[in-house]
Amino acid sequence: MDLLADLQAILRADQVTANETMREHHSRDESYHAPVLPDVVVFAESTEDVVQVLRYAHEHDVPVTPFAVGSSLEGHTIPVQAGISLDLMRMNRILEVRPDDFLVRVQPGVTKDQLNAALARHGLFFTVDPGADASMGGMAATNASGTTTVRYGVMRDQVRALEVVLADGTVMHTGTLAAKSSSGYHLTGLLVGSEGTLGVFTELWLRVYGLPEKVMAARAAFPDVDACVRASTAIMGAGVPVARMELADPHILRGVNRFKGTSFPEVPTLFLEFHGSSSSLTQDVETARALLEDEGCMAYEMVATEDERRRLWDARHVAATAFTAQFAGKRHLATDVCVPLSRLAEAVAHARQWIDASDIDGGIVGHVGDGNFHAILAVDPDNASEVAEAYRIHERMVEHALALGGTCTGEHGVGLGKRKFQVAEHSDSLAMMRQIKCVFDPKGILNPGKLVSE
Ligand SMILES: Cc1cc2nc3c(=O)[nH]c(=O)nc-3n(C[C@H](O)[C@H](O)[C@H](O)COP(=O)(O)OP(=O)(O)OC[C@H]3O[C@@H](n4cnc5c(N)ncnc54)[C@H](O)[C@@H]3O)c2cc1C
Repeated sequence: MDLLADLQAILRADQVTANETMREHHSRDESYHAPVLPDVVVFAESTEDVVQVLRYAHEHDVPVTPFAVGSSLEGHTIPVQAGISLDLMRMNRILEVRPDDFLVRVQPGVTKDQLNAALARHGLFFTVDPGADASMGGMAATNASGTTTVRYGVMRDQVRALEVVLADGTVMHTGTLAAKSSSGYHLTGLLVGSEGTLGVFTELWLRVYGLPEKVMAARAAFPDVDACVRASTAIMGAGVPVARMELADPHILRGVNRFKGTSFPEVPTLFLEFHGSSSSLTQDVETARALLEDEGCMAYEMVATEDERRRLWDARHVAATAFTAQFAGKRHLATDVCVPLSRLAEAVAHARQWIDASDIDGGIVGHVGDGNFHAILAVDPDNASEVAEAYRIHERMVEHALALGGTCTGEHGVGLGKRKFQVAEHSDSLAMMRQIKCVFDPKGILNPGKLVSE
């Protein structure tokens, strides 16, 4: 078998490469995990291309790791057993917009910003908003979420139907265009979050929303992180429909100010956004303000212009990069736990204590309305003791989150980094997950070594 020549014969020669730079680009993601080179990179341009590649790989037992933007954070796209890195970014067409159904049909390589630019013409937007301009295929595969999840839900809530190519090259369709269904097993929900281990998405039907009539944003400063978290829980408890509610601690804001040239006060801060009509928003904003002040908010500032609002969320999106940029030669290890809301203050306080007691520089950000937060730890990947120390903090955070009834990952996914916590989190249901993997992919060629792999 000559992988390069065989695949070039099946597809076009320019769709398959063993070029060193291309292999290097496809050997990693945005995490600190060690890269592994694929043998070849294949650029799929159609469902039929994916079918052909998987049929070949299945017949010859070649590992296939789907690759999109490569922005994942737990080693998801690293082809740990080499083989084929299957790049889906040339499949980047928006195939159909149905404004009256609030649905859109896309190929997997369409990115979040690309989709939102196209939807704006129809008065619509796509709600899931991770910090990176990730692809719809990648976001579905990791069940991504982000700043707006508190109001609109995670990726699994938006994917209505899928076209997926299975490990042996069979094309399967799941779901319908109906808003709800009680019919059959929820295969769409199973495939979303499967991290490229069960099949390759080639088309996605996604739920979209009407652009809100009015958007308002605010910044609320607090004396300590604990008060920030308590205030966010109070807002959730009162049922104020915030569209975004993000925590940033002083360490993060220092990094953002240096990186972006902003001048946010470097104190624990909640960034909030409200979507609605002019009349409902005034009420929501006032209720939120009263609740924040009850919890000790020292300064509450509305963000006046759209420009300022964009700058605010842009700053939030680069938080991890900005924080790490302060430490030359370091990469970030972004922990990602999610706990029940009532335990969030306690979980964040413990994480801060563990960071402060270590030699690691770390800041905390959180999608606090969801009980989801990240400690961003700056580590030198070549310094084994530093990586080990950061990993100890990470482990303690996960163990604590699990003890509180939470999960080892709220949104980034399992990849390589969270495999070791799967037994503790899923206990007796992990065996069933492994059986499901065998049903979908009996030869184990799809993104091997990840998620439920032992
Ligand atoms: C600065 C920054 C901020 C981030 N913020 C967030 C955040 O707020 N929330 C969040 O959830 N994540 C966040 N992330 C992580 C990342 O953006 C998400 O995990 C995203 O969903 C990955 O999409 P991608 O297109 O980069 O996919 P990739 O990284 O290329 O792939 C991710 C996984 O999906 C699989 N895959 C890709 N395409 C397909 C397909 N068509 N079919 C089947 N499997 C496929 C891959 O094999 C891999 O397992 C952030 C990352 C960065 C760098």
